[in-house]
Amino acid sequence: MNYLVVGAGLFGATFAHEVVKHGNHVTVLEKRDHIGGNIYTKEIDGIQVHQYGAHIFHTRSKKIWDYINRFAEFNRYTNSPIANYHGKIYNLPFNMNTFHQMWGVVTPQQALAEINRQRSEMNGKSPKNLEEQAISLVGKDIYEKLIKGYTEKQWGRRATDLPAFIIRRLPVRLAYNNNYFNDPYQGIPMGGYTQIIEKMLGNNNIKVKINTDFFDKKESYIKNYDKIIFTGMIDRFFDYQLGELEYRSLKFETEEMGIGNYQGNAVVNYTDSQTPFTRIIEHKYFEFGKGDKNKTIITHEYPQTWHRGDEPYYPINDRINNEKYKNYTQLAQSVPNVIFGGRLGQYRYYNMDQTIMASLQLVKRVLEDKE
Ligand code: FAD
Ligand code: UDP
Repeated sequence: MNYLVVGAGLFGATFAHEVVKHGNHVTVLEKRDHIGGNIYTKEIDGIQVHQYGAHIFHTRSKKIWDYINRFAEFNRYTNSPIANYHGKIYNLPFNMNTFHQMWGVVTPQQALAEINRQRSEMNGKSPKNLEEQAISLVGKDIYEKLIKGYTEKQWGRRATDLPAFIIRRLPVRLAYNNNYFNDPYQGIPMGGYTQIIEKMLGNNNIKVKINTDFFDKKESYIKNYDKIIFTGMIDRFFDYQLGELEYRSLKFETEEMGIGNYQGNAVVNYTDSQTPFTRIIEHKYFEFGKGDKNKTIITHEYPQTWHRGDEPYYPINDRINNEKYKNYTQLAQSVPNVIFGGRLGQYRYYNMDQTIMASLQLVKRVLEDKE
């Protein structure tokens, strides 16, 4: 088979890597001037700079962990972001350190009693939106200082208008443990993420074309390839016929500083509503001991309203968008040789491990169909 993969991100690269093992040929188109999609990292002054925001690999699947480790050696980085609320520092995710900083409590029993007191206004009713979910998980103080401002900046809408699942991504723990993730496997590839995509695509039966937008020759690609794996925006593919899906965009401002240590941590979140950015990342902290001791590189991350032509970093999975997406999947039946995959093609808030898992499942499905 002759496959066309649109997008050289993690989904497309995993698909291409696997499918050529079965005698197929793949052409990969990428509209950016580099491969890797949003996991792309670039070395500057000996530091791997995460060009599209902090990327920490974490998974609960041993299978996916073993899979990704074939392409790079991982360090033991554990993500422990710090929250800065009007100059006061709190640990994340919400754990005994946070509860102690917020209320002076010392034991898990004391912390639980305070959380219970603060969430009693929920009266045990099931949360209908992000605000209610947050209050019922950690109470009002933490919601107001560490969640509300950050969330409303990040998503550009009120926390009462956002789905509850978004805040359930973060652990809540009655333990002194600042690990942002519960997954047993976590790390950063030493030498960056781009090498992973390079290795995945490094096969004579894979042809990669960067600076090439699928929409420049959409009809001829559809005619000339047996199957197309499309990892761009599904609504754009259909010329927004059923209306636009909503996305959140970001602006990254990266600067090199003439000091060795800017903030003492890889990720610091600014959780108040006035500061226009959500977080600052200091890249050298992702890989211990790297880079010049008199220099550092930091990136401010500013959430942005998405307009046509902007990079769509986050799907906004509320009820209306999810329904619209479902209608697009129906429309997709009109183009049987095109399969939509990845964070944009499937309009899902996929982490990297979920992206790989979804891509491997697609490979299996496609190979079984052929037999
Ligand atoms: P993408 O990486 O978006 O790749 C799609 C590619 O398709 C892009 O390169 C795009 O340019 C290309 N493309 C689109 N349209 C066209 C077209 N018309 N023609 C040609 N090419 C096209 N996950 C984690 O597990 N841990 C993290 O810490 C983490 N942090 C994140 C932080 C941020 C700010 C963001 C935005 C995401 C984060 N993720 C994280 C999620 C992770 O980035 C995704 O799971 C992964 O990159 C999805 O891969 P993909 O191939 O589906 O999409
Ligand atoms: N969040 C928050 N305060 C924080 C960090 C996260 O309120 O300091 C909320 C916010 O709504 C965010 C969600 O938790 O969108 C998920 O956070 P995560 O760090 O998983 O977001 P991502 O890295 O995907 O942007």
